Amino acid sequence: MAEHPATIPTPITDGTVTASRPVEPPSASALLDTCRDALLAERRRLSQDELEALAFLPDEMVGSLAALAHEVRLAYCGPEVEVEGILSAKTGGCPEDCNFCGQSSRFDTPVKATPFLRTAEVLSAAEETARLGASEFCIVLAMRGPDERTMRRLEELVPLVAKETGLNVNVSAGILNAEQAERLAAAGTHRYNHNIETARSFFPNVVTTHTWEERRETCRLVKQAGMELCSGVLIGMGESDAQRVELSCELAEIGPAEVPVNFLNPRPGTPFAEMALVEPWEAIRWIALFRLALPGAILRYAGGREVTLGELQAMGMTSGINALIVGNYLTTLGRSAEEDMEMLAELQMPVGAVGNVI
Ligand code: SF4
Repeated sequence: MAEHPATIPTPITDGTVTASRPVEPPSASALLDTCRDALLAERRRLSQDELEALAFLPDEMVGSLAALAHEVRLAYCGPEVEVEGILSAKTGGCPEDCNFCGQSSRFDTPVKATPFLRTAEVLSAAEETARLGASEFCIVLAMRGPDERTMRRLEELVPLVAKETGLNVNVSAGILNAEQAERLAAAGTHRYNHNIETARSFFPNVVTTHTWEERRETCRLVKQAGMELCSGVLIGMGESDAQRVELSCELAEIGPAEVPVNFLNPRPGTPFAEMALVEPWEAIRWIALFRLALPGAILRYAGGREVTLGELQAMGMTSGINALIVGNYLTTLGRSAEEDMEMLAELQMPVGAVGNVI
């Protein structure tokens, strides 16, 4: 967003910004006041037009936008921060062609494919997550969707990890059918992750081996089976600002309990290897925008935050974020869990379950 002029888009009818007109700071302030009233007094969702207008606020207003997002987060979700550890329990060798992903077998990347970890290894990672003070543990498998053998392993692991550690156990294993969703719910899966990643209109630029609609259908099945839905975004793959707003509105319709916010951390060997990182203040703007579009969601810092935000990571926590993945990500290293816990202590944000009021 850093290069855009101080403009506001003309009203849209089809999700596309067709032209821009200048907006001066006084009208920008009035826009923020209108959106504050909508979210905090009227308790209504912002429209796509309102979110488009916020997306084009001048750069000097990003601090005010972030402050509003923090106010909204506190009003809807409270001060708690939900902490999660994730484990790549089956890495690499995925047949899908997501252009950002180092785990696709279609690209020549340094990621080494490994089979499903042994039960003792999964349990040990979960115990480490519990020691950090986290409440959530997610078992992540790189695959298009689970086969019968994988389903049986998950049906064994989910209740075992929950019983041994007391953690909420979450799963991410790709596209599900209705029967698989019901079985994972019956096994006690607390939340199922299936990222929608990007706007429907941009998805074919990112993945061709499955469709956005297939992803949305899995999201629907997860909710239908009674699990909480976790569906995240990946920002910085060449999508336009209008498409980021489109994505925020599509997610608001899908209604996930949790939205992990990933920023592209270009992986060597992938088609997106040479893409630029999102600028730090642009990242803050979009964290705030997603909070305002999804006021009651658990908005989680996920992959790419360290390289994208650097020194501004604490700022993100007061711009709408209310959850963290601590430790390492699937194929990249995060900063230490201790550093994150220190950051939360400095911000005086308690670690705990987040009440979702929507
Ligand atoms: S994002 Fe998931 S589905 Fe896509 S290639 Fe990577 S592991 Fe496979």
